[in-house]
Amino acid sequence: MVATTTTLASIARGAAGSRPDVRSLVPTGVSPEDFQPSPDTIAALRNADVLVENGAGMEGWLEPTIRNAGNPRLRIVVCTDGLPVVHGNPHLWMDPEQTRAYVRKIADALAAADPAHADGYRSAQSAYDRELIALTARRRAKVATIPPARRTMIVFHDAFDYYARRFGLRIVGAIEPLAGAEPNPAHLAELVRLARAEHVPAVFAEHEYSDKLARALAESAGGLKVAFLYDDSLGTAPDVDTYVGMIDADSDTIVAALK
Ligand SMILES: [Zn+2]
Repeated sequence: MVATTTTLASIARGAAGSRPDVRSLVPTGVSPEDFQPSPDTIAALRNADVLVENGAGMEGWLEPTIRNAGNPRLRIVVCTDGLPVVHGNPHLWMDPEQTRAYVRKIADALAAADPAHADGYRSAQSAYDRELIALTARRRAKVATIPPARRTMIVFHDAFDYYARRFGLRIVGAIEPLAGAEPNPAHLAELVRLARAEHVPAVFAEHEYSDKLARALAESAGGLKVAFLYDDSLGTAPDVDTYVGMIDADSDTIVAALK
């Protein structure tokens, strides 16, 4: 089984249990939004039985790569198909409640691809589903400790919209207006204005990108805190190399920066 990103690969492992080998096409620390596929990517797709992709426009490079791989037995799971995608934003997995639907689809595809082990996939899926329910409850309780007026954030790109909606946070703006697009000075000036007007406590950068713009913005807005989040890619440290670990770590970072 292959997944497009490290985050989806971790979710797929949760759905699959230990039986299938799961690898990520996009390496750790690389953005799936501007990834360039290599011959290795094509080879991985040629050898896979199941591909897990996010969809909703996140993996623009994937379709021609699948065609090049020419693997007629490849089953493709498009995780966001049928889910409530808002304004074309693909980052639904940042809301663990949406991730539960990803997990159901992945387990369905595995059971169809490998019916002899369908029961094993079903029990892995339901165990992981319980883990995701507990994750949402745990994070909700933590966010509730932030004073309501301080539950506002400026983020690096639009990865946290679904997360924020689930947990009652408010995203005032994003440094990158579109994933991968450099912001212009007028956009940054508007973010400084919003940060002051809305009393935003912190600006959130991302581990795989330069924090230069986040720091400049934080400084111009009167010395806001700068903290770092994971979203499109997992990290390499043991506390952030799984999906559940990443959501826990991000939530701790957000709570610490906003409180
Ligand atoms: Zn993204």
